Amino acid sequence: MRNLILLAPPAAGKGTQSDLLEKRYHLVHISTGDLLREAEKKEDELGKYIKETIAKGEFISDDIIYEMLENRINSPDCKNGFILDGFPRNMEQAIHYEEILKKLNISLGYVFQLDAPYDILEERMIGRRLCKNCGSVYNVNIEESKPKVENVCDKCGGVLYQRTDDNESSFKVRYDTYMEKTKPLIDYYKEKGNLYVIDSSKSKEEAFDQMKKILDREMI
Ligand code: AMP
Repeated sequence: MRNLILLAPPAAGKGTQSDLLEKRYHLVHISTGDLLREAEKKEDELGKYIKETIAKGEFISDDIIYEMLENRINSPDCKNGFILDGFPRNMEQAIHYEEILKKLNISLGYVFQLDAPYDILEERMIGRRLCKNCGSVYNVNIEESKPKVENVCDKCGGVLYQRTDDNESSFKVRYDTYMEKTKPLIDYYKEKGNLYVIDSSKSKEEAFDQMKKILDREMI
């Protein structure tokens, strides 16, 4: 049961919580958004498609996601468990994921739904900054998440940047798409008995504490 899925609207803290989970439980953090942003750098046809689609706040086609994900999950470092951040995002992906799990003989594990109101998410999205070098996440609108030096990563000294899809119009599309396509997965996983709801509206520590209470019993 050492596999986790984080289901959440944009800017609810999937990346931040994944980093904390990765460190405490020695799991591999797999973010489909990060895999796509990496592929986007190639500047080939696929890279261009990914760049334009992400900037609009729309979903990348399922087939591209499946190939990236299956390759990653199949890597030897994932054998001890992983955190899926940003996948599955619709019912087709959830069903396809179960086929992958069956093929690789691994279990679904825990599904965490991180929840926070729209206004809080929008404010977090506007303040979010990432390190170009190591991917660490900061927030200039949250005191405890600001970098020590403006625009510089505390961990590696890399330059911080704002994601192209972290703007009001993309955010609205991403949020609406989450409500339409991803939210139905909550009932799906609730019925399976794998779902845990986490209040992610306060600090990252408070959200993480809620997950620790559930995971420490089995994973430490
Ligand atoms: P994230 O980093 O999770 O916020 O994802 C950024 C963007 O990458 C999303 O808005 C989508 O355009 C794309 N993306 C990430 N994961 C998926 C997925 N599982 N299915 C389709 N598109 C995705």
